[in-house]
Formats: sequence, C-alpha cells, structure tokens
Amino acid sequence: VFAVYEDGGEKKIIGALLLASYPIEQKEVKIILTQPGQTITDDQLQTLTEKVNSTYSQAGIRYNLSIDATFNDGHWCGRQTCNTFTPTGSGLLSNNYTGDEQTIIETYMNRPSFVNNLTNDTAYIFAIGAPIDNTGGDEGDLQGKMNFSKQFGFLYNVNPTTNYDILGRTLAHELGHGNYKLYHIFDEIYLGELAKLSNNVMSYSTSPNALQLNKLQWDIVHKPGVTWGVFERDGDQVLMILLNYNIKGC
Ligand SMILES: [Zn+2]
Repeated sequence: VFAVYEDGGEKKIIGALLLASYPIEQKEVKIILTQPGQTITDDQLQTLTEKVNSTYSQAGIRYNLSIDATFNDGHWCGRQTCNTFTPTGSGLLSNNYTGDEQTIIETYMNRPSFVNNLTNDTAYIFAIGAPIDNTGGDEGDLQGKMNFSKQFGFLYNVNPTTNYDILGRTLAHELGHGNYKLYHIFDEIYLGELAKLSNNVMSYSTSPNALQLNKLQWDIVHKPGVTWGVFERDGDQVLMILLNYNIKGC
C-alpha cells in the first residue's frame, strides 16, 4: 500500500506499508495453578489474554487462555510439602528441563486430570506461587521461563501482588521461545545489546507494552516448524536426535 499526495500536480509517494495477510489460527494456553489458595480472576486472565493476543494477532494467531485448578494442592514437588521453587540455569548446553522444573512437569503429567484432558496443541504454563530461589534464573528480570520448542513453561511469583500487565507481556515472551523457537532480539546474530530493552516482545524489557514483532518474527511465528507432542518427554527427544543422527550417517 502506498500513500500518495499531489504536490502542485506532481504525485509524490510519502509512505509505503507492507500488508502481510495470514489466515487466523487458534491456539490454546492452559495456566496451571500450583499453590493452595492461589487464584487468577477472570479480569486477570483477560489481561493476560490481551497481552498475548496483542502480540500474536500481528501474525494472525489468537490464543484462548484457560485456568487449570486441578493441581493447586501444593504437592507440585511430588511430596506432601513443597517449599521454594528453584529455576535452573541457562539452557545453552541442554534445552531440557531439570530439577524442580522437570519434577513439576512429571508430577503434573502423572495426574489423571492431565491424562484425560491432554491436547497436543495446548501450551501448559505453571503459575508458580511458591517462593523462588532465583540463583539459577536466566531470563533477566522477567517473571518466566520457557525453553525452545517446549510445550511446558513457567510463570514465577504469581501471587496477590502480581502485576498482570507485566506478567502478560512475560507470557507472550515465553510463548515466543516455546511455541515458535524465537530467539532474543538482542542476540548477536540479530540486533545485539542495543536492542536489549527495545519494544520488541523478545527483548528483556519489563514494559507491559513491549509487544512488537518484526517482519522476520512474523514469518517465523506463522511457520514455526515446532511440533509439540505431550508424550514427547525429554528422554524421547534424545532418542529422536540419535535416530536423526544415524539416518544422516547412512
Ligand atoms: Zn527469553
């Protein structure tokens, strides 16, 4: 689309806008309460939904968010009493979850309520209400974590003092990693350190309005090449990598 105006009979192009159109795609996010007494109200859920959809509607994707309140008995660590939650460090050497992250995923997946309601195209996000031992966290000041191409992710410090505008932006950021394998905008292969606090959704900005996607990201979001499967546990992924390696070696 070009914007044209006439200047004394001479036509000048004063702007151009690229319109990319994609068919609307619907996706699901289930937010799992993990702590006794923890709540997310309808209004708060609406705020999260708006932030996520402000981001991904740019690429023709709409998310429906829902709450799973079947797991908020406080036994997320697989024992009667669970205390602090420790996020693990950088996934540079491994993209798999370990420690408390792996434990909570396994505990949740073993519940009949999960097995009876699993869906392959749903992102499962744990709302962690337990105190966070943040020594191993690697997402800057963001309240979340979701490893590349993973179906499970985490939001931290989900409690009565949570700012849901900021949390919604964090969720949009984490879905970028988990659902689309989007990298940080400030990685060296993209824009570098200067973009660290930019308005792009994959920056480390904690502004609730840093929700932009650039054209390269639109295209990746539209064709992410990420396939989820709820039975694809970490061990299976290792097996898949070995199989692929063997095929290539033939
Ligand atoms: Zn990130």
